[in-house]
Amino acid sequence: MARPSESVVYGSQASPKDLPSVDRLLRQPAVAALVDTHGHTLVAAEVRAMLDALRARAVAGELTQAEVEPGALAARLAGRVEARLAPRMRAVLNLTGTVLHTNLGRALLADEALQHLMAMMSGPNNLEYDLASGGRGDRDSVVEELLCTLTGAEAATVVNNNAGAVLLTIAALARGREVVVSRGELVEIGGAFRMPDVMASAGAQMVEVGTTNRTHPHDYERAINERTALVMKVHTSNYAVQGFTASVSEAELAEICRARGVPLATDLGSGALVNMEDYGLPHEPTPQEMLKAGCDVVTFSGDKLLGGPQAGLIVGTREAVGRIRKFPMKRALRMSKLPLAALEATLRLYLRPERLTRDLPTLRLLTRPVQEIEALARALQAEVAAAVAPHYAVEVVALMGQIGSGSLPVERLPSAGLAIAPLQRQGIGRALDRLAEALRGLPVPVIGRIADDRLLLDLRCLENPDLFVRQLPALREVLA
Ligand SMILES: *Cc1c(COP(=O)(O)O)cnc(C)c1O
Repeated sequence: MARPSESVVYGSQASPKDLPSVDRLLRQPAVAALVDTHGHTLVAAEVRAMLDALRARAVAGELTQAEVEPGALAARLAGRVEARLAPRMRAVLNLTGTVLHTNLGRALLADEALQHLMAMMSGPNNLEYDLASGGRGDRDSVVEELLCTLTGAEAATVVNNNAGAVLLTIAALARGREVVVSRGELVEIGGAFRMPDVMASAGAQMVEVGTTNRTHPHDYERAINERTALVMKVHTSNYAVQGFTASVSEAELAEICRARGVPLATDLGSGALVNMEDYGLPHEPTPQEMLKAGCDVVTFSGDKLLGGPQAGLIVGTREAVGRIRKFPMKRALRMSKLPLAALEATLRLYLRPERLTRDLPTLRLLTRPVQEIEALARALQAEVAAAVAPHYAVEVVALMGQIGSGSLPVERLPSAGLAIAPLQRQGIGRALDRLAEALRGLPVPVIGRIADDRLLLDLRCLENPDLFVRQLPALREVLA
């Protein structure tokens, strides 16, 4: 056994014999109190694991007498139990400037959605029970009418997420046959969603037409034949092809498809249920526009611009949606009652579009006036400066944020926030990493971004500044 002599503290070193037995430690009053609170199973397991670890350190000559004191053992155990019970999924403050941040859980749910979710989950509900007839119902009916009202669709169904919606649509409409898609639209979304792979998983044969930058109507016309089951348009949500480009609009393509009796599906990715321009934001195609243009099926996400829970929404003609709903894979991709309750409440908010910037967090944050964000930055500057002094300086700065989740990738959201810069040029990278780590280590971790030798905190999504301010003393302590 290696014994680095510098780690051995002579005189105060403890041996394995100094450690109590599991039973004796469990009988110690402070530990018995832990058992009272949490039960025997958890506490005994932690006692065993802790004693094993301490024994190994004693054998290596690394355990001190102070550590085997009864009080020290009880305190260490209490810490272990607390750490074991601490949730791994934690609330964070998203100060990245990206409103729909995929790594931070995308859209925040509206209060109405949270309340409906809680009310529906704390008891039985009519998820698949028809209250009118007293017979079996269909969970789609919870949201189908709303989706049809909002999008103008004849029929609608929902699944676990939009990746599932696309997979199911292709499988149900084109398994074993050909799907025509433009080379300019073979997207990869984060997390291994790649259109060619999705086509293969769905059992369809992909027929690529056009080129990366230009696809013309005759490209589709030439590719459609008796083996074609579906023509697919994919919204290039997370990149933009610029310059010498051409693509075929849904309206034009719908005419080509209709003349040949082939259905047209569009994957919108984000999609928005309202015209974003009405809210001063860049235009994002809506399912209503796609249906009006003649698409048979439109798929989009629940937790992107729509501002709801994770979900894949499928709207379209009665015939196409009917085939999709009956396809066996639908059962494997079906939505759980939890997000379904949240989705219903979220969609209901869209019946009152004038209230959306108040009631729907995603739109509220996206439309938050930059003057308000800047005023918040000014109000917080001095307190943050005091917390990071004397090694860092804090400035109020204009920033450019983004919508996120692949929506409108080239558009930027003018925003404001705080820039924290190390005062010493030397070791600037390390100083920034240390600051970022300290912010992430707070009880409610603060997530910013590092750019141009500064740590930037975009305050657009900080709706609860008290939560941030309350943690500044802890930040000061870590950085001191
Ligand atoms: C985001 C996106 C998807 C995947 O949607 P999820 O809800 O994340 O499963 C599919 N297609 C496009 C174009 C997207 O932007």
